[in-house]
Amino acid sequence: MSDGPTYGFDTLQIHAGARPDPATGARQTPIYQTTAYVFRDADHAAALFNLQEVGYIYSRLTNPTVAVLQERVATLEGGVGAVCCSSGHAAQIMALFPLMGPGCNVVASTRLYGGTVTQFSQTIKRFGWSAKFVDTDDLDAVKAAIDDNTRAVFCESIANPGGYVTDIRALADVADGAGIPLIVDNTSATPYLCRPIEHGATLVVHSTTKYLTGNGTVTGGCIVDSGKFDWSANDKFPSLSQPEQAYHGLKFHETFGPLAFTFHGIAIGLRDLGMTMNPQAAHYTLMGIETLSLRMERHVENAQKLAAWLEADDRVEYVTYAGLPSSPYQDRVKKHYPRGAGALFTFAVKGGYDACIKLVNALEIFSHVANLGDARSLIIHSASTTHRQLTPEQQEAAGAGPNVVRVSIGIEDVNDLIADLDQALSKASA
Ligand SMILES: *Cc1c(COP(=O)(O)O)cnc(C)c1O
Repeated sequence: MSDGPTYGFDTLQIHAGARPDPATGARQTPIYQTTAYVFRDADHAAALFNLQEVGYIYSRLTNPTVAVLQERVATLEGGVGAVCCSSGHAAQIMALFPLMGPGCNVVASTRLYGGTVTQFSQTIKRFGWSAKFVDTDDLDAVKAAIDDNTRAVFCESIANPGGYVTDIRALADVADGAGIPLIVDNTSATPYLCRPIEHGATLVVHSTTKYLTGNGTVTGGCIVDSGKFDWSANDKFPSLSQPEQAYHGLKFHETFGPLAFTFHGIAIGLRDLGMTMNPQAAHYTLMGIETLSLRMERHVENAQKLAAWLEADDRVEYVTYAGLPSSPYQDRVKKHYPRGAGALFTFAVKGGYDACIKLVNALEIFSHVANLGDARSLIIHSASTTHRQLTPEQQEAAGAGPNVVRVSIGIEDVNDLIADLDQALSKASA
């Protein structure tokens, strides 16, 4: 698409980054199933390897199908560039990699996807990095946690699983004050419900596995750069501000300006960490993104109806959905998430652990899986699955007590979903 007028979200989700294939005119983005690209001549090859010219060398770094997805997500998020990678977890490592070094830490929200808690509390220690977990509603606690070695603040926009939404603007102001970037995992909200860069985020990460693809077919991740952070303002980010030996002393920020983070992510991150997205995965995700707004509208509408129905049901103890009038986050949702609070929430079943087990076994439309953001409705009983290694106290703290199930509401006929939950709750409380 040309740099013309500013198009609406529904137009951009179909067209951004894509143009008819120059060789064949193919309207849909081809799957460029190739590992390498022929250089025009030796000078061309040298210029590419010196980062003097942008182009394709080898698909560990760049691939034309993946490049379309990168531009699409960057556009939808309002960023200047994006790097796709093999999974959401890869995106998190890729986002932190240019910022961190041994001894550095990230200040992270306590309300995160379970896998991220494990990645941040255990695995990143192997790199000499660490995470400090704080309640991001307590801004003084966030400020207090930031020290000289902190290189980023990390949160989720709509946090998985417990009906929580983040005040991104408030957190961005704290990060700004400390001269460090705010990274927002926008997986559960998607750019249709929330555009963290507009609220002050520096970087946005995604598990494209979820709503962006939207059908549970491929894993993928993406890091979007706002292009707004001054990496040279202090000496905290030498990977971006100081000479890079691998490229003859090139300084990424000085050379690429607002695109420094994106270029670093490709030229160093993908080149050396190799967490590359393959063109097939990019293709499936591009197909999914074309209908993102339509799906998100239905996801939210269904979630809203189901949450209200569950809250009114005697067999249910409570529902944590930020879209409900009973939610403590109602005002925040209205202000920052006007299109809705997503489609992910938990509810507690009277009858505890055993009732939850009966419920997940009795459901017919809902699938019992460890995934979210699929067109189909999904449920998981965390205490017997993802959170079963935790102590009862840790389960409660994570909002995953024995009587709690998490649902990811799909885009089916909401009356069928209500009927399915109704019959399963009857069996669960029998
Ligand atoms: C799934 C998920 C991740 C991890 O993504 P993968 O693609 O499974 O690696 C990270 N954050 C959130 C919010 C997620 O839902």
